[in-house]
This record gives sequence, structure tokens and C-alpha cells, in this order.
Amino acid sequence: MSSHTFGLAGIMGWPVAHSRSPLIHNHWIQKYGLTGAYVQLPVAPSKLDIAIPGLAALGFRGCNITLPHKVDALQLMDEVDANARRMGAMNTIVVQPDGSLKGFNNDGFGYIQSLLDAKPDWRADAGPVTVLGAGGAARAVVLSLADRGAKEIRLLNRSPEKAQALADEFGAPVKALPWSERHAALADVALLVNTTSQGMHGQPDLDLKLDALPRHALVSDVIYVPLETPLLIAARQRGNPTVNGLGMLLNQARPAFHAWFGVMPEITPELRQAIEATL
Ligand code: NDP
Repeated sequence: MSSHTFGLAGIMGWPVAHSRSPLIHNHWIQKYGLTGAYVQLPVAPSKLDIAIPGLAALGFRGCNITLPHKVDALQLMDEVDANARRMGAMNTIVVQPDGSLKGFNNDGFGYIQSLLDAKPDWRADAGPVTVLGAGGAARAVVLSLADRGAKEIRLLNRSPEKAQALADEFGAPVKALPWSERHAALADVALLVNTTSQGMHGQPDLDLKLDALPRHALVSDVIYVPLETPLLIAARQRGNPTVNGLGMLLNQARPAFHAWFGVMPEITPELRQAIEATL
């Protein structure tokens, strides 16, 4: 797409008013001197199948897809990137030069990049990984860690059948363990990831004893409201390095912006501060 024409993109979900994506993308549009806008696209589930095919006709270069459409949007694409297909969910549509629609999922990229931003020498194969939760965020985290070479991923979820289903689907190196073993499953790990909603604003704290966790282990939480969850605070107090969920949110936006506007945008301290001010 030419960067000389007005560039239109947005976030499609239901609801979308809470999304920080307009702030992120409009910040970049301004920073890189582009002509365009990133807008809210509130679309009810019953209207998804008419809204998505209308994107190209309305002049959109694409849009992000958020809850509750991340799975249902897949069947409305002309083409789906291999990564999004494996994740069974998508978060980005790119309108191709011929007007066809291609679906992508950048959540895993965002997660891995957030770890590398915090710790440039981070390696997925540094030791066992424990992932708590087996919802949408867990799928992206687990798959991207496995792709990066994690050798052992211990997956624990309150509803055990969901952890087992993910382990069955992804195969080695993912191993489902009972939720009751979450405290002991921290022994020897190089990375602990919380992908449950526990610790999020308005939710109870995650019930987890950190005693068995090695002090060098990296502790990451995909939650970004609040920025520092009780888990991250407790981990830092005992000396563990920590990574919050803001880096994942910011980094997943980068490949989409690149596809729509032709610039791979940077995450500057100024952008982080602008988002943090809203959290
Ligand atoms: P899902 O609803 O798909 O999954 C929620 C997970 O939390 C499930 O594993 C669920 O377990 C678990 N859970 C809920 N309540 C409890 C409880 N009381 N005790 C233990 N576990 C519980 O949500 P998502 O995966 O989409 O999102 C999870 C979190 O990740 C949210 O806070 C979201 O904001 C954040 N997120 C951050 C992103 C980022 O860019 N930083 C991107 C995507 C999500 P069960 O299966 O038993 O219900």
C-alpha cells in the first residue's frame, strides 16, 4: 500500500472502548509523520460476518481483532498465516493489494519480544518453564516458547482438562500437571509465566507460594492492569527478575503497524509512559 494515501486501520471487538491499541497506533502514526488514523470498530458478534468483508471497500489497510472475535474471524479470512492457524485464533487482519484479507496472530511474537526487551540474553532453552493458565493468552505463550526451543513446559490450569487438551494438541515439550502441584512445579524453573486472570484489577490475587522458585528465575505476568501484579511484587521482593504484560501488548502491535504502514515502529520510553498513564 502506498504510504502517500490516507492510512486507515482500527481495532474490532465488542466492546473496544477499553483498548489501548488506538493510543499505541495513533502515537506511531504521528511519530513517523504518516497520514492516517487508527479507530475503534465496535462490532457485535452477530455483525462480524458483514463487518469484516466490508473492510476493503471502506478503505481500511486492516485492523486488529480482539475479544470476542479472535476465533470466529478466522473463517472470514481469504488466507490465514500458519502461526494464526496453529494458535486457532487471530489478532490482525491485513488487506492485501488485491483486496483479499489475510489473518495473523502476533501475540506470541509480542510475548517473546517482551522478554528479550527486558533481558536481551534470555533463552527459551535455559531451563524448564512453568506456565499457569490455559486460556487464549496461554496458547500464544506456550506455542511461542515451544517454537523458541523451550525443552520442558509445565502447564497447570485450574480446570485440568484445558491444560491437558493444550498438551495433547501441542505435544512435546508441553506437559500438563494438576493445579494442586503449582507450588512444587516451580522447582528448577528458569521462567514462570502467569497467564491466568488472577491478579488482574478487580480479581483476587493468584494463590501461589514462591518458596520452591529459584531466585534467578525470570517471572513474567501477561496482565498489564495493574502493571505490577501482586505476583510480580512478591517475586521482586525475593530477588527474582520480573517482566510485566505491557511489553507483550506493545510488541504485538509492531508487526501489524509494519504491515499496514510500512514502518516497523519502535517502543520508546515516551510511548510506555503514555500508556502507563492510562493504567
Ligand atoms: P481466558 O479467559 O482465555 O483465560 C483465563 C485463564 O485464567 C484460564 O486459564 C482460567 O482458568 C484462569 N482463571 C480464571 N479464574 C481463575 C481462578 N480463580 N483461579 C485460577 N485460575 C483462574 O483469558 P485470556 O487468556 O484471554 O487472558 C488472561 C489474562 O491475560 C487477562 O488478564 C488478559 O488481560 C491478559 N492478556 C494480556 C495480553 C497482553 O498483551 N499483555 C494479551 C492477552 C491477554 P480456567 O480454565 O479454569 O477457567
